Amino acid sequence: MVCTVVKCPYCGFEGEFRLIKTWRYRWWNVYFYECPKCDAHFASYVDPEGKRKSFAILYKPRVR
Ligand SMILES: [Zn+2]
Repeated sequence: MVCTVVKCPYCGFEGEFRLIKTWRYRWWNVYFYECPKCDAHFASYVDPEGKRKSFAILYKPRVR
């Protein structure tokens, strides 16, 4: 399991995120997180081989 430092792209929260699920997309390991502070969802794409730069895809924050 690749350990990544995750930061919420919406509110900048750093800490423990709720990991909703993980899956594989091509060579990426995808970690789908929910921010406990602002309820935003985002997916972090991580290359397990480290050849490519990881990136995050944003989803709309859940409206309360
Ligand atoms: Zn957040």
